[in-house]
Amino acid sequence: MSVITQAAAYAAPAPKAPLERVMIPRRPVGEHDVLIEIKYAGICHSDIHQAREGWGEAIFPMVPGHEIAGVVAETGPGVTRFAVGDRVGVGCLVDSCRTCEQCLAGQEQFCVQGATGTYNAYDRNGEPTYGGYSTHVVVDENYTVRIPDALALDVAAPLLCAGITLYSPLRHWQAGPGKKVAVVGLGGLGHVGVKIAHALGAEVTVLSQTLRKREDGLKLGADHYYATNDERTFEELAGRFDLILSTVSAPIGLDRYLGLLKVDGALVNVGAPEEPVSLNLFSVITGRRTLAGSMIGGIAETQEMLDFCAAHGLGSEIELIDAAQVNEAYERVLAGDVRYRFVIDASTI
Ligand code: NAP
Ligand code: ZN
Ligand code: ZN
Repeated sequence: MSVITQAAAYAAPAPKAPLERVMIPRRPVGEHDVLIEIKYAGICHSDIHQAREGWGEAIFPMVPGHEIAGVVAETGPGVTRFAVGDRVGVGCLVDSCRTCEQCLAGQEQFCVQGATGTYNAYDRNGEPTYGGYSTHVVVDENYTVRIPDALALDVAAPLLCAGITLYSPLRHWQAGPGKKVAVVGLGGLGHVGVKIAHALGAEVTVLSQTLRKREDGLKLGADHYYATNDERTFEELAGRFDLILSTVSAPIGLDRYLGLLKVDGALVNVGAPEEPVSLNLFSVITGRRTLAGSMIGGIAETQEMLDFCAAHGLGSEIELIDAAQVNEAYERVLAGDVRYRFVIDASTI
């Protein structure tokens, strides 16, 4: 049985309250569990939406964090895929029913019974789950992925959410050579999306609010960069793209972006704003266009994404912070002042 029953963590005690250092329970290492010593945890905008109850009622105290990179410190007796010392990652989900059509298809994120979130959820025994802003976590090996040696753990951590959230729709909508892809919003998700779309061979355009980050965008692999605060952008790019991925955390004017699609093009929202958006249906019917959404990816696809990123030498651009800076980092994400992902050094917790 595990010697770890508690871990240090940063938790929000109540909605909108600042995060503070606490001790949290971690379950004993079960038959198929691995105990992970967390090395790095990325800060996703979803952490902020949830800690501030922007998406609705949440569970407190909340330890956010679903971009986890670490090292296996102990394995349960039934574990076959990992050994002590292995470099591993955990993303947004830590369990699912394992028997429904979606789970069997490797799309655990769409589990019909509901996948178990890494935090802000109750596990299948009714215990609250606590996320990655912590020193340790216990996770079933089937919901743990391997981080290839070619990827440093700090730049790999954000791939566990931001990476898979962009990789999955880019693959599903077949981004690749000959395809024109636009990424809206050059933040945590967007900058990884630009790198992956470029590595897949697509022609990539960034649609950012301003030209402030243009140089970065081109370095990350974008072929073109436009400002959406300039109306001429929407005239010039009308009918241009096969695929547009919106990573924006606030509502966007869908009709304007749908107008940038070719016939049969798709606008895929991965950004998850707190407010509803409106739509003029003529924006889709006139070009047989698709308006879609996408949510992270399955476990096997997350492994595939990490292997792809390792093969292309592709990690996140990060700003490494101490855990005590987490509240300040949240404000900076909200202010758009991050290039391009904050990552907590878990040794400072
Ligand atoms: P982020 O780092 O804050 O990036 C969001 C970007 O959107 C900003 O950098 C900014 O880019 C742009 N933006 C922000 N406010 C805007 C506004 N009012 N109008 C136009 N553009 C605006 O956030 P993130 O971590 O990448 O997450 C982005 C969104 O995706 C969040 O809502 C998050 O919850 C969601 N998310 C969804 C999934 C999923 O599975 N679907 C997974 C993870 C995250 P520019 O400065 O370049 O304009
Ligand atoms: Zn996330
Ligand atoms: Zn299921």
